[in-house]
Amino acid sequence: MNHIERVFIIGWDGAGTFVRNADTPNLDRLMRDGASGFDVQTASPTISAQCWGTLLHGVEPDKHLLTNEKVSSETYPDDSPYPSVFRVVRDAYPDAGLASFSAWYPINHGIIETTSGVHKVSMKDGDLAHAAAAYIREHPDLKLMFVQLDLPDAAGHRYGYDTPGQHSAIEETDANMGVILNAIEEVGMLGDGLIIAVTDHGGGGEHPTRHGSDHPLDKTIFWVAAGPGIEPGSAVPAGLTIADTAAVVARALGVTAPPSWEAKLPQGLFAD
Ligand SMILES: [Zn+2]
Repeated sequence: MNHIERVFIIGWDGAGTFVRNADTPNLDRLMRDGASGFDVQTASPTISAQCWGTLLHGVEPDKHLLTNEKVSSETYPDDSPYPSVFRVVRDAYPDAGLASFSAWYPINHGIIETTSGVHKVSMKDGDLAHAAAAYIREHPDLKLMFVQLDLPDAAGHRYGYDTPGQHSAIEETDANMGVILNAIEEVGMLGDGLIIAVTDHGGGGEHPTRHGSDHPLDKTIFWVAAGPGIEPGSAVPAGLTIADTAAVVARALGVTAPPSWEAKLPQGLFAD
């Protein structure tokens, strides 16, 4: 039985499955080392607060009720029956290091509860990656880290999704992820760490520079996980959704997923 000591979720905003059309050596390495899927479904509507909310709270938007407007102005209720994975992990590990490095500040403000004792940092992607790497080097007690890199979505809105302009932002994001992966490797956390790389939605489905619809270009996402117990170079189990990420994190860290979560552990992802 391979033991997982900590989990890193590295989120790329608005990258859909377009990572396949860009040069992404760091993501390619994770794919070789782990399981990957390019037919994974995100939540509806395909908007950041709803989709990151579903990833972090393990339920669909009709349960967590997060919207872009709400997460900018309100904090997430501490008494919600749908706690974030951070709150669940905090209950199991009162003293462990938990951190969220999010380029899009509303994730730290309105999606992750204020009570979960999460170290929260928001800054631009390049600086954020270096700050996350520094945190990894300084916190051997790190249990769960979430990172959100925003450049792919910003470029999608500006140049169109799955265009050369977005592909170069995707390549820059891959390099930023590389800064984080290097730190993980350098401190020896690669051997007992689970690394998940994922996006929240695609874009260009109904409009070249927008997202939000149920069109497959908006709705289909990449999902990659590498770590102990995951077969190198394998495919993720069929039917995986963004919500299931929360169940994967719970299983990896040996904590019980709340019965209120809709997240299901994808059968066969971990060989046990
Ligand atoms: Zn967007």
